[in-house]
Order: sequence, then C-alpha cells, then structure tokens
Amino acid sequence: MGDASFQIGSSSPAGLPSLNPTESYWQTSHPVPVAEHRSTSSLPSNATVVIVGTGISGVFAAHEILSQSTDIDVLVLEARTLCSSATGRNGGHLVPIIHEQRPGIIAWELRNFHHVAALIESAGIPCDFRKLNGCLGFWNKTYFEEAKAALKEAAALAPEQTRDAVRVVEDAAELEELNLVGAVGAIVQTTAASLSPYKLVTWLWQDLLKKHEGTGRLNLQTTTPVTSLSPHSKEGNPGYLLTTARGTIIASHIILATNGYTSHLLPQFSSLISPTQAQMTAQLPPPDSPFSSNLIPRSYGFVGIPGMDHEMSDYLVQRPISENGATGRGELMYGGGRHAAKGYGVGVSDDSYIDPDVENHLRGLPERLNLAAQGSVRVTHLELLASWTGIIGSSIDGFPWVGGVPDHHGMFLAAGYSGHGMPNAPLSGRHVARLVLESLRNGGDWSGLQKAEVELTEKKGLSSAIDSDAVEKNFGVPVEYVITKERINGALG
Ligand SMILES: Cc1cc2nc3c(=O)[nH]c(=O)nc-3n(C[C@H](O)[C@H](O)[C@H](O)COP(=O)(O)OP(=O)(O)OC[C@H]3O[C@@H](n4cnc5c(N)ncnc54)[C@H](O)[C@@H]3O)c2cc1C
Repeated sequence: MGDASFQIGSSSPAGLPSLNPTESYWQTSHPVPVAEHRSTSSLPSNATVVIVGTGISGVFAAHEILSQSTDIDVLVLEARTLCSSATGRNGGHLVPIIHEQRPGIIAWELRNFHHVAALIESAGIPCDFRKLNGCLGFWNKTYFEEAKAALKEAAALAPEQTRDAVRVVEDAAELEELNLVGAVGAIVQTTAASLSPYKLVTWLWQDLLKKHEGTGRLNLQTTTPVTSLSPHSKEGNPGYLLTTARGTIIASHIILATNGYTSHLLPQFSSLISPTQAQMTAQLPPPDSPFSSNLIPRSYGFVGIPGMDHEMSDYLVQRPISENGATGRGELMYGGGRHAAKGYGVGVSDDSYIDPDVENHLRGLPERLNLAAQGSVRVTHLELLASWTGIIGSSIDGFPWVGGVPDHHGMFLAAGYSGHGMPNAPLSGRHVARLVLESLRNGGDWSGLQKAEVELTEKKGLSSAIDSDAVEKNFGVPVEYVITKERINGALG
C-alpha cells in the first residue's frame, strides 16, 4: 500500500540519501549487527557487477545473481546503513492492488505477494509476517464510486483473480464492524499481509553474507555513497566508473536499485522518477483498548479523507504483541497524510526532518478508526512513540521503471514504485538480475530474454494467480514497466 500518489513536480536531480535521517521505528526497535557492515576495509577497484542500494530491490537482485551463477562477483554499495531508505522506513504493507488494475498487473502483484510469502514461510524468516484481510476505507463518495466501477471492470477482465478475493462493503453496520468511523464504504480483499520489511531485508542480507562473503563473491560496503557514474571502457569492453569518497570502481554491469534517489546518478531520470517525502508514525493503543491485547485482524488503507486527492491514502498495520514487549507491543504503524505536507512532499529527497502538519494529521487516527471496545467511550488519544520520514520514487506515468537503461550498455534499473514497492520490487529486482546474467553469458545481449519473459508474464497474467513452478520461475515484468525510448519520450510528452 503506502501512498501511490504520483503528482509530478520535480525536474531537478534528487540529492544523495541524507546523512542524518530521522529514526525509523522499524530500525530502532530491531538493531542489526550488519547495519554498518563492510566486507573489506578498502573498496575493490574492479567488480563484475555493482548493485547500488540495499533495499528490497537490491537484495532480491543480489540473491538472484549469487544463487543462479557460481563465478560472478557482486559488489554492493550503500550510501547509509543497511536498508535504511524506503524499505526500512515504510508502512509494512504487502498488499497487491486488485480492484483497479489491468489483469496482467494484478497477476504480477499477486505473484510478488506469493513469492515473498513462500520465501518467508519456507526459510522461517522472523519478520512479523501476518496474512490478513486488507481493508480500504473511503471517506469520499465519488472516489468510492470510481473504485467500485474499476473493480467491476477488473472483475470482468480477470474473473479468476477477483472472484472471492475482493468485496465491496456499504452497509453501515458492517462498516462499523470494520471499525471505520464515518467512512462511506470499503473494499475488503483476502490477499494482504503486514510485516517488518526491515527485518525481512536485513535477514536476507545476513543470509547472503553467510553464504557468499567467505567465497569472495559478495562484497557489501555500507556508508559508501556513489557520487557519480561515467562510461568507462576497459581493454575495449564497455563499462562504468563509479566514484565514491573511498575510491573509484570499474564495473562492466551496474544495477541501480536506488528508487527515489535514482536521478542523482542518472539525471536524465529527473522528470521520470521524482523523490517524494512520505511520513510514518508508531503509536501505542491505550491499555483499555481491545487492540492493546488482541491484534487488529486486518491492514487498512484510508482514502478520500478531506484534503486528499484521488491517489493519496493513509495506511495502518499493527506490530505484534509479545509477552515482554521484546518483539512488539502492538504498536500502530500509521503513515500517510501527504495532503497535509508542504507541496505534497514532491521533489524532497531529504528524510532528515518530519513535517509537523503531517504528524498532526496522523495523530488524528482515532477520528478514522474506532479503537475502543464495543459500547465503550471512544479512544481519543494515542501515545506517540516515533515519527519519521522516508523517500518514495514517484513515477511520472505511474508504472515502475524496470530493465536495461536505453543507450547505457550494461546499466539496469529497478525503481520508481510510486509508494507501492512491496508487491513490485522483489520480482523487479529479480528480473534485472536475470538480464545481467543473460548479458554476461550472451556477449552483452539480454533483449531476447526480456522479450520472452515479458511475453510470458502477459500471457500468463490472464490465467489463474498461481501457476506451475515452471511459469513461476520464468516470468518477467508487466510490459508497462519495461524501459524503452518510446516510453521515456511519451512520458516526457
Ligand atoms: C514512509 C513510506 C511508507 C511506505 N509504505 C509502503 C507500504 O506500506 N507498502 C508498500 O508496498 N510500499 C510502501 N512504501 C514504498 C516502498 O517502501 C518502496 O517502494 C520500496 O521500499 C522500494 O525499495 P527499493 O529497494 O527500490 O528502494 P529503497 O528501499 O529506497 O532502497 C534504495 C537504496 O539505495 C540507496 N542509495 C540511493 N542512492 C545511492 C547512491 N548514490 N549511492 C549508494 N546508495 C544509494 C539508498 O540509501 C537505499 O538504501 C513506502 C515508502 C515510504 C517512504
């Protein structure tokens, strides 16, 4: 979920990730030993593949390259501590959008969901993963009617994916049961989950380090911002020179998993992916709330609150409750409120400060969600444990940018998820990694693989949500996500 808003207003390049970010509660409540990890004390001067960024896109890309090859080395460069940008600061929703998308994209998001869920379950990754119902409450009649019409359209085109998976709620008593206060309607879906993306991604990095650092195939360097990139050919082979304050690196292949910060290194993406500041809080339900001892059985999105445009939303999940509070106290992780931010946060690549007006809005959660027991006096005040911001990458046309960068041999990008990266980034990272592997095996040509994978995704997008293992292993990305000159020119108008 997050905030899928993408009003574009920024055309100057993003800054580098700020050096003194606000503290995300996901991070402060779960310190990890590898936050400042550096595999070697100095930087290597050469690498076959460099991945820039250690969020969810970067880790899935690294995983694919390291698990699908035996001799390719990967250098990972991270500007700050491990996973300290959007992935380590987000809303904690893994929620495919089912009610208002093209069938191919619905299927793609569902595949991301099932892929991540299966990985967490099979490896037993402790990341507070909970399967839930997703509930999208509407406070604006027009937006609700539009969403209902979009759902009808999606249901006609993708009956298998929507049947029994999504339902509309309009009945006042049922809206009350959903704990919504003053909503005109809701859309409830059965495929949704909450988790700590920070726990998931830092666990995955630690697992990769365990398996591949000792062999010298994985070198992770945190607190090492890449300040610029330039083409560089070595012995006639094209590649790139990456500049950092700790030295330069020459690499034949680069994956930019830099999301909202992409245009700092690729200024030609300044208008295509805009950094946008988003804000979160952690708030504690009072002891007399039923939700201080029993978890809310759903994740929420709130749409059409006065002041919000059609694309904006608030979003809420709850952390677990554990006996001594060690792994959670039922904190309400509540974010959004971008309509209250100056300039809607667009063009801001600095997460070192919060917007007090947004915080004020987020503190009004009890005005939208009933947190009291049936028949009890309404809860009006929650203890604020933390407020922080993070940077999303808003895409000019609403679709992520995933694949080879035109006219940049050996450079690949997975970014621009417009605040909705959890059901998009994992398999986008995997897709660009596959293109890199193909390029390395095939003399720099990866276009055939991309074409085949995208075609398969489109063909299978129309069939049932989960396919055979063979299909599961071979799909690429939706056609809209592919980076072409035509798409770029069309988007820039
Ligand atoms: C407040 C907030 C709430 C959100 N809520 C949700 C939600 O509930 N559900 C959902 O689906 N999505 C949500 N999102 C969006 C989601 O978090 C992102 O789409 C997703 O995390 C993107 O992952 P990523 O790996 O591509 O980017 P990031 O996690 O941002 O990782 C990019 C990495 O690249 C590094 N980097 C950038 N530039 C450089 C450089 N020059 N040199 C070295 N390193 C660099 C950064 O430091 C960072 O670690 C939210 C985002 C925010 C900010």
